[in-house]
Amino acid sequence: MRAAMSLSGGMDSTALLMRLLADGYSVSCISFIYGQKHSVEVQKAQANIAYLARNGIEVEHRVVDLTSAMELFESNLLKGGADVPEGHYEEQQMKATVVPNRNAIFSSILYGYALSIAEREGVDVKISLGVHSGDHAIYPDCRPEFYTSLEHAFAVGNWDSEKIQFELPYIDGDKTDILRDAQESIAQLELDFTEIFGNTITSYNPDEDGRSSGKSGSDIERVLAFHAIGEIDPIEYQNSWEVVLEHALSIERIHKDDEYRERLTNQQYYVTRQSGTEQAFTGLYWDEKRAGEYRCICCDHLLFTSEMKFDSGCGWPSFHSEHPDAGINRIQDFTHGMVRTEVRCERCDAHLGHIFNDGPTRFGGQRYCINSASMNFEVNEE
Ligand SMILES: [Zn+2]
Repeated sequence: MRAAMSLSGGMDSTALLMRLLADGYSVSCISFIYGQKHSVEVQKAQANIAYLARNGIEVEHRVVDLTSAMELFESNLLKGGADVPEGHYEEQQMKATVVPNRNAIFSSILYGYALSIAEREGVDVKISLGVHSGDHAIYPDCRPEFYTSLEHAFAVGNWDSEKIQFELPYIDGDKTDILRDAQESIAQLELDFTEIFGNTITSYNPDEDGRSSGKSGSDIERVLAFHAIGEIDPIEYQNSWEVVLEHALSIERIHKDDEYRERLTNQQYYVTRQSGTEQAFTGLYWDEKRAGEYRCICCDHLLFTSEMKFDSGCGWPSFHSEHPDAGINRIQDFTHGMVRTEVRCERCDAHLGHIFNDGPTRFGGQRYCINSASMNFEVNEE
């Protein structure tokens, strides 16, 4: 089994290389130098290829220099361009970090390379690309339909094209999925996750020592992905991991809050994000008796099912138990001159309501008193 890929030295292509190796492919990689400000990424790629060789895994790796061709292009990512913007990806003018037609150029070279391998070795070659959903939401040349069209065009224009196939294994995943997949494949290969991801860089604007600020959109995505899988990013930042992580989380909070404000009704936002309480007997679900599931209005996390609901007469939806996988957080609440236990969504921290000890004793005596506005009810289909 043969595969060819572009190894940038970033997270996604590194994860992809590990996946292909774990799946038993013999892999050929190209790293491109094209005048990028973050050309240190190519050295990172080389360091991982050397690490693999020390561990008995040979990977063909070629560095291709496109500098003179891509000097013709305008982009903030290229040397001579303006500064790379900070903040969350979608909040920024992402056009600033596009290199015109880059993926078409890289893919063309990769296709020629794959055809040559197919010819030389008499095998079929898979071209694997580390494109993921976070990318194609932003960059038009990361969209699946672009690669479908490209593959079609290449097939029309080349002999022996039936030997070459494009594959986009991460197309539906995000950065966190990719990192989790890498954890798995690296464990399978019995290699060291920390060493491998220590040899990657995601930043578009590293300093002279190759360290990133942790503040560009791509940095923040990366930091949040490591945090999500419970790992500390092994690369060195200009600040400590704690500072970098706190910054990324604060950007994420602002970004999420904007999204909630846009998507939720005023009442839903007031209840879940500002710990508000709806008036008794006014919500959608206090008298709801149909069979179904109650999910968090903010993040769709499953909280309760109709079997856990009971009629307490209090005017809010009442549940005697939570779903076994809900993991609802409990917090002491001293507001309004009372001591109560507040309950919040485990996944997104939405305020849900409170918990009291006057529930049905045969189910443990608890009453989850929940705002309708914090939930979405899905009726079971019969
Ligand atoms: Zn939630």
